[in-house]
This record gives sequence, structure tokens and C-alpha cells, in this order.
Amino acid sequence: MADGCACDRHVHMYLTVAEALRRGLSVAHPVTGIETLPLQQAIGRVLAEDCSSKVDMPAFDNSAMDGYAIRTGDLGDGPLFDLPIGGRVAAGDSGAHDAPAGSALRIFTGAPVPPEFDAVMMQEDCEASATHIRFARRPRPGQHIRRAGEDLKAGAPILCRGCEIGPREAAALASSGHGQVRVCRKLKVTIFSTGSELRQPDEELSPGQIYNSNRYMLLALLDKPWVDLTDRGPVADDPDLLEQVLREACDTSDLIITTGGVSVGDEDHMPRLFSEIGGETDVMKVAMKPGKPVMFGRRGDALYIGLPGNPVSAYVTWRIIGSPMMARRAGLRRPRLVSERGVLAEPLQRLPGRQEYRPVRIDGSNSDGRPRLRLLAASYSGRVALLAQADGLAVIPAETGYLPEDHPLEFLRF
Ligand code: AMP
Ligand code: MG
Repeated sequence: MADGCACDRHVHMYLTVAEALRRGLSVAHPVTGIETLPLQQAIGRVLAEDCSSKVDMPAFDNSAMDGYAIRTGDLGDGPLFDLPIGGRVAAGDSGAHDAPAGSALRIFTGAPVPPEFDAVMMQEDCEASATHIRFARRPRPGQHIRRAGEDLKAGAPILCRGCEIGPREAAALASSGHGQVRVCRKLKVTIFSTGSELRQPDEELSPGQIYNSNRYMLLALLDKPWVDLTDRGPVADDPDLLEQVLREACDTSDLIITTGGVSVGDEDHMPRLFSEIGGETDVMKVAMKPGKPVMFGRRGDALYIGLPGNPVSAYVTWRIIGSPMMARRAGLRRPRLVSERGVLAEPLQRLPGRQEYRPVRIDGSNSDGRPRLRLLAASYSGRVALLAQADGLAVIPAETGYLPEDHPLEFLRF
């Protein structure tokens, strides 16, 4: 396993998953174009610059409760306090009032607290008539007042570039006065699935034909507001046709993703064609199961990822290697894949050699509260429907051969 390579039982050398991913990320350069959009159109896009608050939050002293603003200096010795109600301020009012000295001000949550008032009494703690309030507990100065800038001062950082503008980010941007947002331009992605055997799911199958799963899987995986997708559909294993589509895709896209045709069979044309049109291949084989063969490379600014044809392999390689590369290319800064720890619901026996990603179902939890992972069939690489019944992928290290029941195991939740 030294220098990032792993040997399987055959003599070929493969890259480890970690090394392949490292190389993939190192060639996935973030797009540089930036657009400025109104916040409502920027939702789901990738933030292109660090943002700080344009205003103090809150912007002014305001009431945290429905109740009565008072001047604590007006209060006598107690034990019971009695104040006339001299005015009223609600959220959205300017805070102007005509409550005379010695009176309380009816106030509501979010309403500005005028500067001379220094505490708010919760209405639940007051006995109120139409004209007076009475209460027994002396309020603390500052009680139930949210001070201007106490959450965040103008100029304080709120978001780092490279995040996806989701609900929390959109609210943060809005609350701090960002009506216009600078986002990375959309990533131009072209997909096609290679294979003369492929038919659409609404067509009749003739002998030797199968339904095209990968096209729909990729359509779903790439359904993102920051992707500008060109779907070239299926392309037959005809070298001239494949070359034309691949060349066109490389000329017009930031990222090209294909499935199939990257292995060593006579009909596996993609590695040769990519090199013939001037592409430079960075990675050809990765010691992962399922997954090999997978390739990626560059041609000019275009990044090419050739996923295996086998749909489960295509999904797994996408999840482990392709998706982080695409995220980086789109300008996203994301933590690496986050795995969780479960335990085996049954013993595991397999041939060591390649890092394996095995679909698992979560079957309750053990006495420590760890999810119990039930492994789905070992020979699964063509059974893509199994993925839809799984809850995640267990990560089985390359060197692992046998693990007993209840042994800890990392898994990636879907
Ligand atoms: P390949 O990598 O092209 O040799 O394909 C490997 C296996 O995956 C073959 O059995 C193909 O028929 C199958 N396959 C390739 N592409 C697709 C696809 N888009 N949808 C479903 N199966 C596919
Ligand atoms: Mg094929």
C-alpha cells in the first residue's frame, strides 16, 4: 500500500481510493466566473465571496417579550409596584411615544424600546387593567431588552465563500442586508451513457438490450441549481459517433461525465478516444469494489470523468470520487465524505484486496446505540435496484478479510 498503490491478486497496480481522490481533487479547478444575482435567484447557488453583516443585529434596542417597558428609576420601594400605562409601541413602529415620566409603555416583541426605558416586564408577570399595571417583583435593569448589535456587529463575518445557499444561508444573508449576492457561475456539465445495448425505460426491449439506468441516475445526481446540464442521452458503441460527441462535450463543458466503455474490452472506446482528441488521462484504475474501471482526465479546461457502465459501480464511484471532484469544480468548499460508525449485524467474510463499498440496511441498534448494519448481497454489482433498498454503503477497508458480528464498521448514509 506504499506510495498510494494497492495490489490485487492479479499483477496490475491500482491506485488506492484515497490517492485517486487526492489526484481527482487536485485537477478539479474551481470555475472562476462570478454572477451577481438578487438573493431570491441565488438560492441553491454557490456563494462566491465571504460575506459579512451590513447591519448591526439586532439593528436597534427591542423588546424580547410582549409586556410593558418601564423606567426602573420610576419604581418606589415596593413591595408592590403600580404604574399608569402611558403609551403603546408595536413591532414596526418607530419608537416615538408620548408616555409621560412615571408611566409604563405597552410594548410587543420586536418593538423598539425607547432609550429612556431600561426594562421590560413580561405581561405574564403583571396584573393589568385598562389604565394601570401592577407587579410584585422588581425588574433587573436591561431585563428582556435585546440590545442593538448584541448578536452580531456590522462588519462581522457571516458566511464563507464556497457554501451552497440553502435555507439557513439565505436567511443569514437576508437578515444582514444582502439583497444582491455574488455567486459562482453555473457549472456546464454534459452527460452521456455509452452502450449499444441501452434502451429507454418506456421502450420495448429486443434480445440483448437493457434499460438505461445510468442516464436517469446521473440526471437525478446532477439536478442542482448550480449545474447547467446538457444531456446527450445514450450513445452507441460506435467510435466515430462517440468521438464526435466527446469532442463536442469537451469543447463546450466544464465537466463531462460518461458511463460505460472505460474497461479493456474491444467495445470500451473511451480511454483511447479521449487520448485521441488530445485528452490527458490522470487516473485509470482504482482499487475499489465496486468501481474499477473508472477514469478521469483533462482536455484544456474540461474535466472528464468516465464512470463504469455497471450502474452500482457507477453510483459508488460517483459518490466516492466523482461527486467531490464536481463539488470542487463548481466552487464548493465541502468537508470530505462524512462517515458514521455502525456495527455488523452478522459476520463478514470476503477476499481482501480492494476497498469495498457494500450496500447495507440499518437493522435497529446495538446496546451502545450504534446502528446495526445488515450487509446486502455480496455479488451485487449489476443489481442497482438493491441500492434503492439500502440505507447506506459500508466501507470495508482493503486489507479486511473477516470481521465478527458486532464488529465496528464505518458507513456512509445515503
Ligand atoms: P461497460 O462498462 O460498458 O462494459 O458496461 C458494464 C456493464 O454495465 C454491462 O453489462 C453493460 O450492459 C452495463 N451498462 C452499461 N451502461 C449501462 C447503463 N447506462 N444502464 C444500465 N446498465 C449499463
Ligand atoms: Mg459498454
